[in-house]
Amino acid sequence: MDVVITDLNPRFKHEVAKEEGGEHIKYCFQCGTCTSGCPVSEIDSKYNPRRIIRMVILGMREQVLRSDFIWLCSTCYTCYERCPQDVRITEVMNALKNMAVREGYIHPAFRAQAELIGSHGRLYEVDEFTEEKREELGLARLSGDIAEVAEIFKVTGLADLLSAESQEPVSTASA
Ligand code: SF4
Ligand code: SF4
Repeated sequence: MDVVITDLNPRFKHEVAKEEGGEHIKYCFQCGTCTSGCPVSEIDSKYNPRRIIRMVILGMREQVLRSDFIWLCSTCYTCYERCPQDVRITEVMNALKNMAVREGYIHPAFRAQAELIGSHGRLYEVDEFTEEKREELGLARLSGDIAEVAEIFKVTGLADLLSAESQEPVSTASA
């Protein structure tokens, strides 16, 4: 990805540093230890936590917040433990995801998961076969009233976020 200097936002790193979880982002000295131990990077080298931190520091605000990559972090905390600068990347990724959602971008996979929870109260629909088996075993039915889930979605603002128009992501490459 080309870095267009006039498109950079020098305030972005300060904005991230003010976000819960992003406080240590400016400590990064780009050693690459995070990427070398990242299991997602090992599967797909396009995902690179060092690069994402670099993009934040450069001020590539739109590219970072609309990147699919911030959603790929598996929250394994390997980088968190190994980073010599205590950047706390796992928390930085969470901060970036929170900022992205406020900008109207929820990754389609996470949107689908939230919608499933909203519809069924869980991440998968319990089919009738499973319910009958449970009944035979004297267990309660799993599917039922999801009013509480709807209330949680409403109170937390998730219902509004899900109903808002989602922005299209942009692709992310090296920076
Ligand atoms: S391990 Fe820490 S200091 Fe090194 S590149 Fe990653 S975030 Fe930066
Ligand atoms: S927490 Fe995320 S970025 Fe860090 S090593 Fe695990 S998958 Fe990679």
